[in-house]
Amino acid sequence: MFPEPLDVLVAGGGPAGSTAASLVARRGYRVGLLERERRPRFKVGESLVPHTWDTFDRLGLVGRLKRSHFQKKHSVQFFSSSGRGSAPFYFSETDPHERSTTWQVRRSEFDALLLEGAEENGVRVQRGVQVQDVLFDGDRAVGVRARARSGAAVEIPARVVVDATGRRALIARRLGLLVSEPYLRKVSIFSHFRGARRDDGKDEGATLILRTRRGDAWFWVIPLAGDVVSVGVVGELDRLAGPGGDAQTRFEMAIRDCPPLEERLAGAEQVMPVRVAQDFSYCAERIAGPGWVLVGDAFAFLDPIYSTGVLLALRSGEGAADSICHGLAAGDLSGEALGAFAGDFIAGMRAFRKMVYAFYDRDFNFADFLKANPECRQGVIDILSGNVFGSGVESIFGPMEQMARLPADRSVGAV
Ligand SMILES: Cc1cc2nc3c(=O)[nH]c(=O)nc-3n(C[C@H](O)[C@H](O)[C@H](O)COP(=O)(O)OP(=O)(O)OC[C@H]3O[C@@H](n4cnc5c(N)ncnc54)[C@H](O)[C@@H]3O)c2cc1C
Repeated sequence: MFPEPLDVLVAGGGPAGSTAASLVARRGYRVGLLERERRPRFKVGESLVPHTWDTFDRLGLVGRLKRSHFQKKHSVQFFSSSGRGSAPFYFSETDPHERSTTWQVRRSEFDALLLEGAEENGVRVQRGVQVQDVLFDGDRAVGVRARARSGAAVEIPARVVVDATGRRALIARRLGLLVSEPYLRKVSIFSHFRGARRDDGKDEGATLILRTRRGDAWFWVIPLAGDVVSVGVVGELDRLAGPGGDAQTRFEMAIRDCPPLEERLAGAEQVMPVRVAQDFSYCAERIAGPGWVLVGDAFAFLDPIYSTGVLLALRSGEGAADSICHGLAAGDLSGEALGAFAGDFIAGMRAFRKMVYAFYDRDFNFADFLKANPECRQGVIDILSGNVFGSGVESIFGPMEQMARLPADRSVGAV
């Protein structure tokens, strides 16, 4: 399948896998990537945050993104259960940099752009090939077993295996490393609409987060290019997915419980059958072991409220690539060496996790918090922008803890 022995085998060609593969191949190592889909297809996760720019810059993709037809995004706006909208949080307010303009993307096109970028960087990409298992010699990963397009099983040795299989989380499931977040047991139902009402000018591409009237669920509204809007609801697993009614009916019922959204969708046409994702918050106990490393959703996924999934995929891909290159050069492929990037990364995840818990605390809202603590506005926008890696945003959590129940940090790896 690959003409020469591999230094690194990446399983999965989403944002995490493409980033890790690109940055290792650029340093001259032999990298192979297996992606189970033959063609790019729909994926949820369409809203980016400003600090994805830093990785795009490193990957040399900023120019392509700027020239793309992806909808530009400058801000996020929150609507309370009474239907009242906050002032938009413009990213340029605290960070007047070109990264303050980010994008709302169709993931099929966005993931293809990153994967093609990886090929241009020398990664050997095989599409339509599913990794079935990771091969271990003792506790050391030594390659993978995959099903070739012909249907034949093939074994591919590699010095390092990167698990970038997303929520499939091949290695973490096999090793029993996944820890779930009982407090964040949610379900999401989502679809696309054409012809919804959009805001004007700079606000056209804003992500809107709207709580339902009952306050037990929230919607995202993500305007995409071509007059299409992505709309999804997130709520408690037991309530939104409870007994009775199919997903479409539940989706429509939830929309009726959110008047500002209903008003935006009046006259719009639903152009995709609803899709469902559930129980999606978890984290692996370890990020790396001998010969293996986890990136993106294959390591952890936190509730989608702040659109952080792709950022975390890119950043872990980037960090893993640096650790792998260092480990290959030093001849040290231990878990400690391959997971050396985890410190800053996990600190950033912890900041997001605290913000997620604050959002779901019924006694907390950002308007009251910022009124009482105006000095925290910069920190809040930093977090909404994804500026959480080594940025000192932790200072907002002392005051926040006075108004919301925040989680204790878990041991490293399980955040
Ligand atoms: C409801 C919901 C809403 C979300 N909204 C947002 C948002 O607005 N913004 C945001 O940034 N994030 C969002 N996310 C999160 C985002 O979708 C993910 O965090 C992101 O896609 C992770 O990237 P990844 O590369 O780790 O995994 P993925 O994007 O899932 O990529 C994994 C790749 O691996 C391939 N693969 C899987 N198994 C195998 C195998 N065995 N062999 C070979 N290939 C395999 C898959 O085909 C896929 O291409 C959302 C998530 C959910 C559940």
